[in-house]
Amino acid sequence: MTEKPPAPTGRAESREIIELRRLKDEQPDLAAAADLQIELLQLQRRVQVRVPLPSIRLDTDYLNSLLPSGPILQFEHLPIDWSDVRFLLRATASAMRNQDAIDDAEVRRVDVLCRDASRLPAVLRSWYESVRPGVSTIDPDLLGLESIFQQAMRPVLTRCADAILARTDLAGWPHHICPLCAGEPDLAVITPAAERLLICSRCAARWRFDQIACPFCLNDDRTKITSLASRDGRYRLSCCDSCRRYIKAFDARRSSRPVMPPVDGVATLPLDAAAIQRGYQ
Ligand SMILES: [Zn+2]
Ligand SMILES: [Zn+2]
Repeated sequence: MTEKPPAPTGRAESREIIELRRLKDEQPDLAAAADLQIELLQLQRRVQVRVPLPSIRLDTDYLNSLLPSGPILQFEHLPIDWSDVRFLLRATASAMRNQDAIDDAEVRRVDVLCRDASRLPAVLRSWYESVRPGVSTIDPDLLGLESIFQQAMRPVLTRCADAILARTDLAGWPHHICPLCAGEPDLAVITPAAERLLICSRCAARWRFDQIACPFCLNDDRTKITSLASRDGRYRLSCCDSCRRYIKAFDARRSSRPVMPPVDGVATLPLDAAAIQRGYQ
């Protein structure tokens, strides 16, 4: 095993990369997925350092006043630099292709979109707004490319979320979708106080949510929730027998490090397989 360079202080991404390398050493089956995450994190960090603040008033009272009618981060608030967006989309598609996560046709579609200065803004807006309650149509040019957009836009969305979360803790938000960008959660964290926080799959914002209820269909009947846990107890799955979806959780009470969504997403791939085998999606 090679020596690992020390992490620069305060860089969560570097700690994530160190954890991903450790995961690869411990579980070689996960190497391809870990390598893809490492490449994406390095790419995202390069861009994130130059993403400006979102164009929303960053004032605690103002942000809290928007919450009751949220999600609060509109497409117009995103600090979009089109040359960065094109770079991120192309580089993300290339990284995902290298690890066989997508095929050549998808890489070509991304390239065509990046060359089309009139289509790209419409498709990006459709991606951002497609998850909002009540939106039922999505741009046909986006279909099948959602995961590429999600990874590519991560530096922009996490930058916005960090800036907003520095001013508000979103405590008044009781819903199952992200209070900032309307995204679905794809991971939860169980805190030392045994609360459950959901983590947005798009902007990584975290918000407190009911400990039992399914964050997709809101079923809260305990008899219709099946729980599974990893052998070390670090991860749990809550599988909903009503909508057949599941959410993974990182149990911070059973770990010496904090939750790291890019790492925990890879570490829980075996749990995903177990859930899918049981008929959940
Ligand atoms: Zn979000
Ligand atoms: Zn459900």
